[in-house]
Amino acid sequence: MPDPNCLFCKIAAKAIPATIVYEDEAVVAFKDIAPHAPVHLVLVPRVHFAGLNDLTPELAPLLGRIALVAKDLAAQAGIQASGYRLVVNCGPDSGQSVFHLHVHLLGGAPMGSRLA
Ligand code: AMP
Ligand code: ZN
Repeated sequence: MPDPNCLFCKIAAKAIPATIVYEDEAVVAFKDIAPHAPVHLVLVPRVHFAGLNDLTPELAPLLGRIALVAKDLAAQAGIQASGYRLVVNCGPDSGQSVFHLHVHLLGGAPMGSRLA
């Protein structure tokens, strides 16, 4: 199931180092190596698929699990009340650079109302 060439599969398998802040049998979360906000975590399913274009009804519950983990990690980081943003990039125009579905959790400072 893991893709041997995939960075996030390797991080989830601890084959390359990352600051993992949460893991369970389905989801792994780690600090983004180039943070865009005071809190910037990346949440990934352990199962490899490239992105939202490859989402299926079978895989879709993973997004709900990731959202639950994100909510708890936001609380742990002390930003549940101040607010945060979840971002999923998909494809070239979004700037997606790692082709293993992931959700960014961003917060810790005002981000303004513009989305892009
Ligand atoms: P995206 O642009 O949505 O594909 O996001 C990929 C994210 O992965 C970027 O925010 C990168 O900074 C982050 N990233 C790339 N390599 C690593 C790494 N080794 N450890 C943690 N985060 C990484
Ligand atoms: Zn992968």
